[in-house]
Amino acid sequence: MSRLVVISNRVAPIREGKVAAGGLAVGIHDALRQNGGIWFGWSGEVNNLPEVKSEQVGNINYVTLSLNKQDYDQYYRGFSNATLWPIFHYRIDLARYSREEYYGYRRVNAMLVEKLKPLLRPDDIIWVHDYHLIPFAEACRAQGIRNRIGFFLHIPFPAPEILTAIPPHNELLKTLCYYDLIGFQTETDRLAFQDYITREVRGVIERDGSLTAYGQNFRAGVYPIGVVPDEIRHLSEAYRARRLTVGRNRAGDLRKTIISVDRLDYSKGLVERFNAYQEFLDRFPEHRRNVEFIQIAPTSRSDVKTYQAIRQQLESEAGHINGRYADLDWTPVHYLNKSHERRVLMGLFHNAEVGFVTPLRDGMNLVAKEYVAAQDPENPGVLVLSRFAGAASELSAALIVNPYDCIGMAEALDRALRMPLAERKDRWETMMQSIRRFDLDAWRDNFLRDLHAFSSRPRASVKAGSAFAS
Ligand code: UDP
Repeated sequence: MSRLVVISNRVAPIREGKVAAGGLAVGIHDALRQNGGIWFGWSGEVNNLPEVKSEQVGNINYVTLSLNKQDYDQYYRGFSNATLWPIFHYRIDLARYSREEYYGYRRVNAMLVEKLKPLLRPDDIIWVHDYHLIPFAEACRAQGIRNRIGFFLHIPFPAPEILTAIPPHNELLKTLCYYDLIGFQTETDRLAFQDYITREVRGVIERDGSLTAYGQNFRAGVYPIGVVPDEIRHLSEAYRARRLTVGRNRAGDLRKTIISVDRLDYSKGLVERFNAYQEFLDRFPEHRRNVEFIQIAPTSRSDVKTYQAIRQQLESEAGHINGRYADLDWTPVHYLNKSHERRVLMGLFHNAEVGFVTPLRDGMNLVAKEYVAAQDPENPGVLVLSRFAGAASELSAALIVNPYDCIGMAEALDRALRMPLAERKDRWETMMQSIRRFDLDAWRDNFLRDLHAFSSRPRASVKAGSAFAS
């Protein structure tokens, strides 16, 4: 049986027996445990000792290395998070481009391949994750690695007109085509990619559905990432049971809760959401004092400038709403700028009447799925979901909103809070069918199945030569 080798920017710090930080880590961990393998990536440390550290736990080898300051600035803080992240989330206005950072990005990808190469066996299957590592396969081929390599993009793929704002878009997309299989979250993302390949570089769609471009033949597919519904139900019920013992539950507490949980990121539409909540309190005064809005937003990437600005803006918005409406016994907005444990979040989801998930653009948004999976089937809450979250293509039974439509979002909150039980149950059932069908196991198994199948055919000889190879 082939080993699995997973490459991601960060190696999730999870170990056997411990509840992991997030679903993705659990999914990858399970896949590695099934056949044994390696999880390889950056340790998160920045220093001048880029030595490779390896730790074997069971049949999984966790291999990490640190980055030096220049690599960190150019590869991680620079091209990945100040160019690719904003542009892939349709925010050209927040993107910057530096040729040095792009070179650094390519250089670090080639360096990671160099460190991985001695650990590889010929029949290993390599699964690379996310936008930090687009050129990884090309660097592998340039260094003579012939293994099957798949890539999954966790974030959206932008429309070609947006993508071409990246000066080396052509070179970058060329490197992406060295993968055997490229996975996207939604059909919209896959079509945007196919559009670029067929129109921008005159690539062709072959009879068998594969694509040929830049002299490479490869596949592109849709694999929506999912959650583990049973784990979420278990966590949410355990937490709810604890809360009942301290005397608070939905029946006994007339005040209803709207909940949002996001990393503090401009793609999450936090400012627009706060404005919509204020509009809701203005337009529907009957809800005042009867509802509270909990926004959990742990800081992320606080060393990237645009992230500092959004934090200040939100603090001021929350202060403004509370200053205007709060009373001695009512705080309309609870804005918590720190991360919370998964089991606590699932309990909070269970107890909230409305899940308010309104990103301006999001690859999938696992919080939307977690909120639904954490509901009580006999008395489920309502999901208000942005049409621009990848999850909206599966969860069309949510109340779908446009996050740029402030009044529309306010009206959706009102509708959600008034929704009769029968309608809530109907919508919830429909959403749960999709959540069960496209759960985390399906995401992983379908991707790996296709990677096995598509790459078992003989590969055309590959010409890879890169100035960035070492
Ligand atoms: N999460 C968490 N604690 C927090 C905030 C978020 O465990 O304080 C988890 C959340 O439950 C979800 C993940 O982090 O599983 C966020 O994934 P999502 O796809 O919603 O957004 P991303 O951060 O990947 O853009």
